[in-house]
Amino acid sequence: MGFDSLLGNTRLKENLRASIARNRMSHFYLISGPEGAGKKTLAKLLSAALLCRGQEKPCLQCPACRKVMAGTHPDVITVTDDEHKNVAVKLVRQVRDDMFVKPNEGERKIYLFPQELGTEGQNALLKVLEEPPAYAVAILLTDNPEKVLTTVRSRCTELSLQGLSPEEMLPVLKKEYPQAEEGLLQGAMARSGGFLGQAKALLDAGSILSPQTEGFVSALCKKNMLELVNLLTPMGQWNREKLLQELFLWLSLLQQALSCRSGMQATTQQVKTLAQARSSKELLQTIRSLQKAIQYVQENVSGAAVCSYLIWNLI
Ligand SMILES: [Zn+2]
Repeated sequence: MGFDSLLGNTRLKENLRASIARNRMSHFYLISGPEGAGKKTLAKLLSAALLCRGQEKPCLQCPACRKVMAGTHPDVITVTDDEHKNVAVKLVRQVRDDMFVKPNEGERKIYLFPQELGTEGQNALLKVLEEPPAYAVAILLTDNPEKVLTTVRSRCTELSLQGLSPEEMLPVLKKEYPQAEEGLLQGAMARSGGFLGQAKALLDAGSILSPQTEGFVSALCKKNMLELVNLLTPMGQWNREKLLQELFLWLSLLQQALSCRSGMQATTQQVKTLAQARSSKELLQTIRSLQKAIQYVQENVSGAAVCSYLIWNLI
């Protein structure tokens, strides 16, 4: 319950729980993390925690929590500016006037800034927050904390969202994409940097193929040894996890191409191309070589050795 609906980020959640339990909340938060990291989710949970009337905050059950999660709480104000890239300074200044109007029903009044503020806007916000009323809280969201002025950062409690481990992410993706092959999920995870939103966006767009995968399909279809050498040699330096995920993805593509040759419909263009270019026997042979390579990686054989094995055995 509560903060658990944000995946991973164990330490951040523990720290938040502890400060809420001691009622030591800040007036000014900066939530940072790349796209798909869960910034909006955390901003909502934090707002709910600040307004919750339940025991373990945020309880997500009390009327205040429900309103925050539904986006209908009158004391949670989202400041955005559709007309400009950065929020106009004028809007930031309006927050100041609004801030001195007491909360409607909660003990706090929360201002969310999901959009970039720009230098001028940030300076204006600093003035706004010079002497805030006790109930006022501002929460800034950014994909790059470096863009935030030092003067602002030094006044904020910074909540930096981290990527998820494959163990944390895979079960979630499996649940949400029950039809997807594990290899595809592995590929999406590999390219997402651990950020769930990015993995989902890749899966939704059907574009989880990395440049390496595209190169692999191309080299295999053309039986081009040189392309394969150029592709696999740098991959020999990859870490074990990344290499494994890429190889799983290739394996899944080959398995799909093989099913495609026995009459199944191809799910992607790459699968179709592979199925047309190589015979079932050849596909099966490549699958065996890949399975062997995956086994080697799992047995801690060096990446360079595994990649050179693949160079000699894939085509
Ligand atoms: Zn609650």
